Amino acid sequence: AQKARSNKTAAGFALGLQDAIEGQVVTRFPPEPSGYLHIGHAKAAILNQYFARMYRGKLIIRFDDTNPSKERSEFEDTILEDLQLLDIHGDKITHTSDYFDQLYELAVKMIKEGKAYADDTEKEQMQKERFDGIASKHREDSVEDNLKHFEEMRQGTTEGVRWCIRAKLSVDSPNKALRDPVIYRCNLLPHHRTGDKWKIYPTYDFACPIVDSIEGVTHALRTNEYRDRNPQYLWMNKTLGMRKVNIWDFSRLNFIYTLLSKRKLHWFVDNNHVSGWDDPRFPTVRGIRRRGMTVEALTQFMLSQGPSSAVVSLEWDSIWALNKKVIDPVAPRLWALLKDKTVPVTVNGGPSTPEVKSLPRHKKNRDIGEKKTVYSSQILIEQEDAASFEDQEEVTLMDWGNAIVRSKTVDASGVVTGIVVDLHLEGDVKKTKKKITWLAAPTSEHPIPTVSLVDFDYLITKKKLEENDQFADFVTPVTEFKEEAFADVNVLDLPKGEIMQFERKGYYIYDGIKDGVREFFRIPDGKAAGIASK
Ligand code: ATP
Ligand code: MG
Ligand code: MG
Repeated sequence: AQKARSNKTAAGFALGLQDAIEGQVVTRFPPEPSGYLHIGHAKAAILNQYFARMYRGKLIIRFDDTNPSKERSEFEDTILEDLQLLDIHGDKITHTSDYFDQLYELAVKMIKEGKAYADDTEKEQMQKERFDGIASKHREDSVEDNLKHFEEMRQGTTEGVRWCIRAKLSVDSPNKALRDPVIYRCNLLPHHRTGDKWKIYPTYDFACPIVDSIEGVTHALRTNEYRDRNPQYLWMNKTLGMRKVNIWDFSRLNFIYTLLSKRKLHWFVDNNHVSGWDDPRFPTVRGIRRRGMTVEALTQFMLSQGPSSAVVSLEWDSIWALNKKVIDPVAPRLWALLKDKTVPVTVNGGPSTPEVKSLPRHKKNRDIGEKKTVYSSQILIEQEDAASFEDQEEVTLMDWGNAIVRSKTVDASGVVTGIVVDLHLEGDVKKTKKKITWLAAPTSEHPIPTVSLVDFDYLITKKKLEENDQFADFVTPVTEFKEEAFADVNVLDLPKGEIMQFERKGYYIYDGIKDGVREFFRIPDGKAAGIASK
């Protein structure tokens, strides 16, 4: 057997699995088809794929479909789409429900061997007994009685639905997860795959270790909130004489100002606080990808988290800063000026009829092609720049050259309404303080498109919600900020989803046309002043 091989991640530590044999590692990502994937799931999926690839093994995508109250087929399709968006490709797709027959047989076997029993103790009473380390009154019931009750459960009779099956593991272990966990429950709702066949469903605690073992999973990655349940997981397989699976814990991912539970995310959708599951304010895979998060940054980020076990709420800044490093070298540079804040400038020495030149889309990366820049003696600049100009100041018109400010017209309220400059192309662009973005004033031949620049705030106002906080009390009233801008003509060539930079404004992702206007979402870059409009 080979020893665990380890790769150094960007963060510098070794990330590897115990007892991993090249070519034989099998991992699995087990989403419940009850919602869309979020960034926490992305961590689990990315780590599972990473290890499968690292050891040239296999990755199973397993739909963990043991609760018909929450699950729907449509969520299987959307989860598969989410995985595509993460560049996660399983070697095999399976379902826990594929094993319902086997799981049932194994539960019967456990009952017959005296390792499980039927219980009808009320939920609260059961919790209390478990907490106090007291045995259920049914713990010593006969195998015949237990089988009889399990059969009633299987048929979903009025009597049967009152019962559950518990593993006979421990009454009073210091680890409460070992105090006779429930392994089977009744549910009369139809299952999205098995229909009415079953009225009983295995719990995650029972199904997961068994299906992992059956499917040949060698390494089960689990969030460390399950750490207390690891001995229970191992017990199931040992008790049933099944192959042992290695458990690898990783920390659950949380972010400040962010809710990651499917139930809460459902609430935001249902109450129209977001436009849907792919809303760019949402921590869903769809949401963050639509906001301009790259798979590369996500992957780097998740691997840099490594096996650390602290459960903390992370800052979004660090992942967006990583994303910025990924996009900066490849994001084409275009220009935009806030629409109601433009100032006309006459450029003496500029072409009297507009001229078009081809320039690189990125000065340091010629591979990403060229863009058109229109030159004219009539241009627009932004009010803020115009207001800062001193009389006779030499400034740089980016991608053009220097110009000297000759006159400036200001209205009664102090707003600059016009500027005249003389081109001074011999001037040294390295010596000016101000490098200005500008656009040739529109003509019928060279119109300038209007675009919408959109920025977002966190959906909730509190960094970290406490146990007793009602999240609905902390909904940020306004979370979307839109500004209209004039943009250079190259925006018309962008495909939907392209990531680019409006120079001196920030990184944006083109989201398509809404109400006739091209919409660009600001991509956070990890700098504290993320919300431009605040
Ligand atoms: P819910 O979001 O409703 O609480 P869940 O988190 O249990 O559900 P599953 O679909 O069962 O969602 O999760 C699939 C996998 O993703 C599991 O292996 C789970 O441990 C992992 N996972 C879920 N949330 C996170 C998270 N915040 N951080 C890391 N991994 C997570
Ligand atoms: Mg779950
Ligand atoms: Mg979750």
